[in-house]
Amino acid sequence: MSTAAPATTSAKVNLAEYRDVWVFLQRSDGRLSNDSLELLAAGRKVADQVGQKLVGLLLGSNLRGLPEEAIDYGADVVLAVDDPALRTFHTMRIIDTLESMILKRKPYAIIFLATEFGRELAARLAYRVNSGLATDNVDFEVQDYFNPKFNEMFPKTMTQVRPDFGSRVAKIWTPRHRPQVATLKPGSFPPLQRDPSRRARSKIEKLPLPRPGKSYALTVKELVDLPKSNVDLEHASVVIGLGLGILRGADGSPRNPIEAYKLATELKELIERKWGLKTEIGASRGLVMANVRALEGIINRDHELGQTGTLISPDLYIALGVSGSAPHRAGIRAKKILAVNPDANAPILLAATYSVVGDLYEFVPKLIDTLEALPDKD
Ligand SMILES: Cc1cc2nc3c(=O)[nH]c(=O)nc-3n(C[C@H](O)[C@H](O)[C@H](O)COP(=O)(O)OP(=O)(O)OC[C@H]3O[C@@H](n4cnc5c(N)ncnc54)[C@H](O)[C@@H]3O)c2cc1C
Repeated sequence: MSTAAPATTSAKVNLAEYRDVWVFLQRSDGRLSNDSLELLAAGRKVADQVGQKLVGLLLGSNLRGLPEEAIDYGADVVLAVDDPALRTFHTMRIIDTLESMILKRKPYAIIFLATEFGRELAARLAYRVNSGLATDNVDFEVQDYFNPKFNEMFPKTMTQVRPDFGSRVAKIWTPRHRPQVATLKPGSFPPLQRDPSRRARSKIEKLPLPRPGKSYALTVKELVDLPKSNVDLEHASVVIGLGLGILRGADGSPRNPIEAYKLATELKELIERKWGLKTEIGASRGLVMANVRALEGIINRDHELGQTGTLISPDLYIALGVSGSAPHRAGIRAKKILAVNPDANAPILLAATYSVVGDLYEFVPKLIDTLEALPDKD
């Protein structure tokens, strides 16, 4: 690990010199990842509000087709560094490359995805360029920011919006430094419509790898793909969320949580079969962290919903045995919520479109019967 001091000093930065919004794009199966398309939409919003260009960054080996795809989905410019040395995702080499690009071109902001890789890069890069970092944002706005303590106005500053611990959201500014470094939580923005006609008015710049001969203490020997998660909460139209309430009946008597999981699965399959709506089962952090033995191999970290889990924006969220704590609700952007809970004061019932004060073990079988009796789609 490098212990190098930040490359830029803390001397006053000439903010006006810094222009354009950069987004660091990642790929998946030879295409831009879905999250990267969302990142382009987020970057587009900031670039339009600040009146500057949106620049897609592509660093890797054999990037064929990706720059054009980035332009189709919203970039005005793509900076591509296509070099075999970048094949192994060597973090320090990528940071060196980004730092060199930033020092030459001075971007206004650089946004990464809040993925494992993006989080690591963003933190290291913010340190290198002596700037602030706001992580896990769900939205961005460009506003004039007034600091009352110093009676100072910072025009056109990127407001970074992210869930807070207790309240709904926190707004973060990094007014004195550039570029503003941020990460975007996947699931926060819908991708823009693909528009190949954008290519005529956009530009792809191919850049050489800076310091190609540099060697690093860390060598990547092998790349191994992690097993892919089989839950896709971000893209589901309906999400069924299970909470700690599945461990007991409304009278407090213990229940086997597998029963609730089976009911949720039956409901999921029914909705998919009858209406063709992609439906997924998620869980509260409470249930995930409880490591319930009966749910071993069934509910895991991939199912977690909320601030520290996956942010979802389905048409319908069905909450079963979930209290609806603030961090849980911070990750739910459903158009409608149906919640079942015997505690009439549970926050999820207050936030729900349809509130059922009752026992999930009684309500869900009735819901399944009622839906089953409805006519099929078409
Ligand atoms: C820094 C931090 C970050 C966090 N991030 C997240 C996050 O991202 N996501 C998240 O989910 N949590 C998060 N949490 C945890 C959160 O604060 C709660 O502890 C957790 O969400 C509670 O999970 P729960 O709703 O399943 O359980 P509980 O709060 O125990 O609620 C269970 C509910 O089930 C109801 N119930 C009981 N029996 C039945 C029944 N038979 N039928 C129907 N309902 C029943 C009860 O009335 C109760 O309301 C975070 C906490 C911290 C400190």
